[in-house]
Amino acid sequence: MTKKWFYEKNSPSTVYGYEITPVHEENTEFQHLQIVDNDHFGRMLILDNVVQTTEKEEFIYHEMMSHLPIMALDHPVQSVLIIGGGDGGILEECLKHQSLQRITMVDIDKRVIELSKEMLFFTEAFDDPRFELIIGDGAGYVDSPEAQDRKFDVIIVDSPDPIGPAKVLFETPFYQSIKNCLNPDGIMVRQAGVPVFQAPELKEAVERVSHCFPKVEVYRGVVPVYGGDMAFVIASANGRSCRDPRATFTGDYYNKAFHSAAFALPTWWYELTGLSMDE
Ligand code: SAM
Repeated sequence: MTKKWFYEKNSPSTVYGYEITPVHEENTEFQHLQIVDNDHFGRMLILDNVVQTTEKEEFIYHEMMSHLPIMALDHPVQSVLIIGGGDGGILEECLKHQSLQRITMVDIDKRVIELSKEMLFFTEAFDDPRFELIIGDGAGYVDSPEAQDRKFDVIIVDSPDPIGPAKVLFETPFYQSIKNCLNPDGIMVRQAGVPVFQAPELKEAVERVSHCFPKVEVYRGVVPVYGGDMAFVIASANGRSCRDPRATFTGDYYNKAFHSAAFALPTWWYELTGLSMDE
């Protein structure tokens, strides 16, 4: 198939460009979905014209969203809930923890899962016996008595940007429901964009999560296709800091020393969020 250029707008006046070979394209019930190949990043998933994951550097984002909260728990993880995450990258990383007994994913769009399984790079993870899939709205799920009775050690919000069906995953009631679904010592994490392009997203996420959780922190990782220095908001239900890992786990990006180091923020992020530099 002929190559062409795909441009993702990362602000009203800037774009990232990729030379792509289209592999698949469709309008699902919820979003416009593309699977493409790029010589540098390999296979890529694009939703509503925003790159979601790439074969060559997916591990950075997925490791920081899974191993860090799991190792911040003060006991071996047993249960994880992923909201969104339909590509399977977070799922694959979480499954590397032997203590994990149950991992539930709630994604609104079954086509993302079907096509990821068929055409992306985490196929085996979807067949793990510990995995349970629920197709539905993540906000509705965490608000349900069923989810709140089950309780989870870690809840990972792997949502796209706050557009389309993902908007509800950025609202205060959603974070309150997440807290109600956590064990008393549980931890939640969400991606909060790349502040150099999306500063209000980080500020708002810290404010809203702080309404519901006694301890909210921010850490960072560098994810090239999302625009660079990315922010993650992490919160514990019991007020404990997530800064120190319980034990050693070594991925391709994440490691024990990097865990604590990731909590050192640029000065302007402290100013933006109101978090204290001295804690
Ligand atoms: N890492 C990605 C990023 O930030 O670019 C997110 C990847 S993952 C593919 C995002 C998933 O969230 C998609 O599969 C999408 O279908 C799902 N999603 C969007 N809105 C949702 C909602 N309200 N409830 C559950 N899943 C949702």
